[in-house]
Amino acid sequence: MMNNPLLQEWNTPFGTPPFHLIEPGHFKPAVEEAIKSASEEIKILTDNSEQPGFENTIAALDRVGETLGKITSVLFNLNSADTNKTLQVVAQEVSPLLTHFSNDITLNEKLFERIKIVSESIENSGLNTEQKILTERKFRNFMLGGAALKQEDRKQFRVISEELATLSLKFEENILEETNSFELHITDKEELAGLPESLIEMAYMEAERRKKQGWVFTLHFPSYIPFMQYSERRDLREKMLKAYSSRAFRGNDFDNSQNALKIADLRLEIARMLGFSTFAEMILVDRMADTKEKVEIFLEKLFQASKPAAFRDFDNIRSFAESSGHKGAIERWDWAYWSEKLKKKLYNIDDEILKPYFSLENVEAAIFGLATSLYGIRFSKNDSIPIYTGEVKTFEVYDRDDSLLSILYIDYHPRPGKNGGAWMTSYREQKIENGNDVRPLISIVANFTRPTKTRPSLLSFNELTTFLHEFGHSLHGILTKCTYESLSGTNVARDFVELPSQFMENFAFEKEWLDTWASHYRSGEKIPDEIIMKIKEASTFNEGYACYRQLGFSFLDMAWHTITNPVDTNISDFESQAMAKTELFPPIKGLNMSASFGHIFGGGYASGYYGYKWAEVLDADAFSYFTETGIFNKETAASFRKNILEKGGTEKPLDLYIRFRGKEPSIDALLKRSGLK
Ligand SMILES: [Zn+2]
Repeated sequence: MMNNPLLQEWNTPFGTPPFHLIEPGHFKPAVEEAIKSASEEIKILTDNSEQPGFENTIAALDRVGETLGKITSVLFNLNSADTNKTLQVVAQEVSPLLTHFSNDITLNEKLFERIKIVSESIENSGLNTEQKILTERKFRNFMLGGAALKQEDRKQFRVISEELATLSLKFEENILEETNSFELHITDKEELAGLPESLIEMAYMEAERRKKQGWVFTLHFPSYIPFMQYSERRDLREKMLKAYSSRAFRGNDFDNSQNALKIADLRLEIARMLGFSTFAEMILVDRMADTKEKVEIFLEKLFQASKPAAFRDFDNIRSFAESSGHKGAIERWDWAYWSEKLKKKLYNIDDEILKPYFSLENVEAAIFGLATSLYGIRFSKNDSIPIYTGEVKTFEVYDRDDSLLSILYIDYHPRPGKNGGAWMTSYREQKIENGNDVRPLISIVANFTRPTKTRPSLLSFNELTTFLHEFGHSLHGILTKCTYESLSGTNVARDFVELPSQFMENFAFEKEWLDTWASHYRSGEKIPDEIIMKIKEASTFNEGYACYRQLGFSFLDMAWHTITNPVDTNISDFESQAMAKTELFPPIKGLNMSASFGHIFGGGYASGYYGYKWAEVLDADAFSYFTETGIFNKETAASFRKNILEKGGTEKPLDLYIRFRGKEPSIDALLKRSGLK
């Protein structure tokens, strides 16, 4: 045990995880040991003979399990960014231990009794807003964790929540397995028709890596998306789309159909035990949209607003395809292809034209520079910080007054052991401990286009906005200034958390910003004004359809989590019904979204997917304030930093927003930006 690096002091720069010393075998014993000491901390807390108060109960509880938190964030971040079979097994073994421990806490009667006492006397307690919110949140977490359940129900509650944790993990693993297991192997040059050079080269390298002749295309975004946009071979597009949309739905060992049904049913059971009629109602308690009705009204409003535009977009693509010789219905595998062609025709713009201006090196410098001009912070590379794989870059982030704000890890490119998509996460959260400000360790993980032998990594426009998005989450983490760990950084309501991230995406459409950095990676020529104008013009292209599609996912999410009885049909029929109202394509047997909907069945977006759109209302409204006052306006930026980015979850989101904006958000800015109004 003594030589387990996870349990020793981390004698590394800034107390960062000693990745170079950590092996998969270290995790389980370390977690067991850390749980033991956290349990002792709880015991000391509950044995305290003093009258329960905020300090000795709520704040003390927030400090419990520091080592455990450190270890598990390393484990689960690695399991998402750089996993392998051994680590997956470890995560599976450790996961029930953690749920078990977390249940031990929430079902601890002595502890709950103390929290209840503090919570009941909160009115005249003299606590500040942050402390009150922390107390409320702890009380609610205990209630949702079953603390008020009758003795006979507790055992059942534990069994279900532990099973749910295991099922969610399995759900994600199946998606990863299924994403990796498919390849489209091409040996006949004819079959590459329409594909851009850069994609062909990448596919060639992928084939080489797999010791194969020819070219290999995969379901990872940098390969899949451009293939669907450019391949002239309709049969191959069909093959790719069907492979993508049937992941974890193929009746093999990695099929998630039963897992999805089981998860939905168990969630309902948990909600019922706690006195809610649906899981959604239980989850929404601490959201900005705090009732199921508010979410439904919001989605319906957007649905009505985007419907005409969605149909118009669909008809435009159809008639364009027909006039270009397409026969028959527009199928799912035709959409991206004809959209890209029409976009090219209307705006003479596409990713192949844009990419040369977005070399990763330039984009990174530009995004850092943007943070510098908005908030006065700066980034300094530090290669001595331990990393888990050679590709990860590490930076120190400093404030205007040269105080350290955070460490930032960035892991840019796809690998077989990495989950798809992009995300921000942390290895340590910010808090004040014994009067010291403990600064956070933030990480961005992405799947951006790799460099090839002949060119550097050139980002698509979508990758550029994704980078801005995850960087926005990172700023929420980097700039945070709170006292208690569980309220700091991105620990805010789920439908508020996408505001800082989506807000940053807006800059990708601003000439004033692009002008300062976007230049051709080879010639150095500045991005032409004409192209920038077209980026902006093209930004509303197919937005009606895009909104409709997002709404479809939100309806699906809400449907799974507003069931009031166990699902008595299969996931295919359940899904068709839930998404019927936003469906524009002919139905295809064998395809399914739910089986690979990791956001809601694996991750934490259950009955929270609407949050993306909800936050879009906020980010469009917030950014309109920047365009009114100037996008680099120091005062506006300072107010955004002070009222939103620094505050974490220490106040009600709407209060924070109004303090920044001077008024409540309105949906108009979003409708205008998307061309829906
Ligand atoms: Zn996000």
